Amino acid sequence: MDKYDLCIIGAGPSGYAAAMRAIDFNKKILLIEKSELGGAGVNNGALSSKTWWELARSVDSLYSHKSRYNLSTSEINFNELKQQVAAAVAERKELLRSHIEKLKSGDNAKDITFLKGSAYLRSPHLVEITSENGKQTIEADYIILATGSRPRKLDTIPIDEEIIMTSDGISNLKKFPKSMVILGAGVIGCEFATIFSSMRHTKVHLIDKGDRILPFEDEDVVKVIEQNMEAHDILIHRNSRMIRMGIVDGEVEYELEYSDGKKEVFHVEKALVSVGRVPNYENLGLEEIGVKMDSRGIIDSDTQTSVDNIYASGDITADIALVNVGELEGRHAVEKIFSTPSRKLIYENISTIMFLNPEVAGVGLNEIQAKKKGIDYKLASVDYKIIPRAIAKRNTQGFVKMLVSNDEEMKIIGLRVVGEHASSAMQAIALLISMDKGIEEIAECVHPHPSIPEGIQECVRLFLGKSTFKPYALNNLLHCETHYCTDEQG
Ligand SMILES: Cc1cc2nc3c(=O)[nH]c(=O)nc-3n(C[C@H](O)[C@H](O)[C@H](O)COP(=O)(O)OP(=O)(O)OC[C@H]3O[C@@H](n4cnc5c(N)ncnc54)[C@H](O)[C@@H]3O)c2cc1C
Repeated sequence: MDKYDLCIIGAGPSGYAAAMRAIDFNKKILLIEKSELGGAGVNNGALSSKTWWELARSVDSLYSHKSRYNLSTSEINFNELKQQVAAAVAERKELLRSHIEKLKSGDNAKDITFLKGSAYLRSPHLVEITSENGKQTIEADYIILATGSRPRKLDTIPIDEEIIMTSDGISNLKKFPKSMVILGAGVIGCEFATIFSSMRHTKVHLIDKGDRILPFEDEDVVKVIEQNMEAHDILIHRNSRMIRMGIVDGEVEYELEYSDGKKEVFHVEKALVSVGRVPNYENLGLEEIGVKMDSRGIIDSDTQTSVDNIYASGDITADIALVNVGELEGRHAVEKIFSTPSRKLIYENISTIMFLNPEVAGVGLNEIQAKKKGIDYKLASVDYKIIPRAIAKRNTQGFVKMLVSNDEEMKIIGLRVVGEHASSAMQAIALLISMDKGIEEIAECVHPHPSIPEGIQECVRLFLGKSTFKPYALNNLLHCETHYCTDEQG
């Protein structure tokens, strides 16, 4: 029986990152993947959807330029766009595959094996792998579970991944649908609504059970996104409950009930069900060997499961489901196994981007979260209209909003940037949050010009009373205020 120092189950972003960190410790590693290298980080997930988004942004801008400069353009071809997405996915997968191959050869060859097959734990140290060559069992000192997640399905909706799809079925589309309903106004649902509406061939309906999309995000952020969605002819069904959805004569029929009790039936060509993801922890033998789980995923403490030699990372754990978080956890698990990490995992400085129109970047808390935690904060906000880079882009829609602690230190609590290049300054702020630092460093640091981060710098200078533009003169473009949660609660 082959024996390994570490066996990693699942070669998505988390498992792959774990394997590569284990290489640094010169260990004998087995990486097992039952489907596609890269997991949802590449296939039917982060990379594929972001390639669609980038293409959709180009198409959208092409249409804007067409009217701005009175240009004529030929028809956008769906299959050409789809081929670009397939090429991006293939390129990344080939890089991941050839990287492993190259690591195994040469003078400094590493002991890593990549196996295509489905893994099952027979005991805490024995992994059974079923592949096209049959079954084999290996032994491993340590195991990392990185089996990820899959789209949540609802029993009442007949998902066939052709007419009614999840995000896994997008790659089955053969042309732009004339119309499409998206059930779920969370991040993934709103990203696809942005993608399809930007291509200008699909009438998008978005079913939102609340009175606004992205319910976890601040109202001012959501307002900009909703405005653009409606300008792109997206029909947002607010305060609506879906009573039924089915396939009738090859198309989708769905019925909604609104909060006032009124009901309405709609017909569209395709549907995308985007109601969250569920962790892949079934059929792994975990219960039998005592790994504790709840409905959100594996219960872990700093990536350690309830079984000594078994760790878990990525979407299978009950926390934030993102590529960067999965990679962080995978690397951290390996460091815990083979050394001592310099600190415990922290999630406070995780930066995120929502790929909408425009993009929304964030790090730390937003106002909703700060209020929920009862934190008093100062807020500074700067409109894109005063940022030269946005003016040069000829698109000044957006703003920068920063929250800091309401004390002398003014430690950064959170940042939201809505607009073109929104994500360009997140790292600096994430670093300051993780270092528990105040804002002076940014106020005096010379920023490249013209750049969107200059808007963040102006926010910081607002807090310090030394902004270039004065809020008392341009109150509609920048302002600073203090919010007392303690007052509201008391
Ligand atoms: C449409 C969409 C868009 C997204 N956009 C973003 C984004 O913009 N930014 C971002 O950070 N995140 C994004 N995400 C989330 C991101 O893709 C996931 O958080 C990330 O892929 C999780 O990585 P993972 O390694 O934990 O799991 P996965 O990527 O799910 O990989 C797990 C792997 O394990 C394999 N596996 C499962 N069971 C077994 C078994 N028994 N044996 C062997 N192998 C097994 C699976 O086949 C899979 O390949 C998006 C997700 C979706 C669906």
